[in-house]
Amino acid sequence: MRVLVTGGAGFIGSHLCRRLLEQGDEVYCLDIFYSSARRNIADLENDPHFHFLEQDIEEPIDLKVDRIYNMACPASPVHYQRDPVKTARTSVLGAINMLELAKRNNCRILQTSTSEIYGNPLTHPQKESYWGNVNTIGLRSCYDEGKRMSETLFFDYHRQYGVDIRVVRIFNTYGPYMAENDGRVVSNFIVQALRGDDITIYGDGSQTRSFCYVDDTVEALMRMMEGDYIGPVNIGNPDERTVKELAEKIVEMTSSSSKIVYKGLPSDDPVRRKPDISLAKEKLHWQPVVPLETGLRNTIEYFKKTI
Ligand code: UDP
Repeated sequence: MRVLVTGGAGFIGSHLCRRLLEQGDEVYCLDIFYSSARRNIADLENDPHFHFLEQDIEEPIDLKVDRIYNMACPASPVHYQRDPVKTARTSVLGAINMLELAKRNNCRILQTSTSEIYGNPLTHPQKESYWGNVNTIGLRSCYDEGKRMSETLFFDYHRQYGVDIRVVRIFNTYGPYMAENDGRVVSNFIVQALRGDDITIYGDGSQTRSFCYVDDTVEALMRMMEGDYIGPVNIGNPDERTVKELAEKIVEMTSSSSKIVYKGLPSDDPVRRKPDISLAKEKLHWQPVVPLETGLRNTIEYFKKTI
């Protein structure tokens, strides 16, 4: 199959491109390296079945493809808040352009939405039927509302034009190829621990996240694409941890001399986040299999080699 992966040089996108090539697909990777890196796909660029296109999804594109994974969007708060208008454009114009492409090709398109569409959730854990608690005018809104609008566009293109859509909501994911300067908690803590720098906990560290290893995430994306259920489906690991617990675990696993320091909590930082993955289990026969310790060990090894 000819598969387009927008944001294919990103953290999750590059893993997906690798898996698609392994299963014999012709992969078209579209990226502008806004928050991704060429080195994430360096090992793929000599593969004759891998095609890189440096193009912004804000612009329309014409390409003959059988599948589209729409993943292009800065996803880490530091990156998506750098140019919030661009983040909104990428989500909304990008979704329209890719849906138009799917419509012209009469092909299936999968949208990688996000747990951020639940905002600061008032129900716990979060089920797909929960509509969310989102600030429309805050610092996270460009991303949260952008991604919410993309979901709307996907379902409207499906209802109005019969486009064959799939929608997943990805929760916190970690693993090799995360950007060192991503500002995300796992990469920050590992890089700080390896360098002996202070480990920066924002707030008192009692906020929770549930971390899914990237191999598990990619497996779920591929099952979703080839399955019958259109979604939305939560993709994440329900193993919930406090940020403080994560910091202590990483310090211990790296035998680091770093000390933990406490900084201000960013605005609209969700207090708790944990996916309910019953729907993914039922529809995709999927659940994460990589324990946090194993995933962290692989990620620590990656950063040891790259920083
Ligand atoms: N966080 C932290 N220290 C850091 C980076 C993040 O304590 O150096 C916290 C952040 O405030 C949030 C959690 O870790 O509560 C997850 O942050 P991240 O940016 O990784 O993802 P998101 O907030 O989008 O889930």
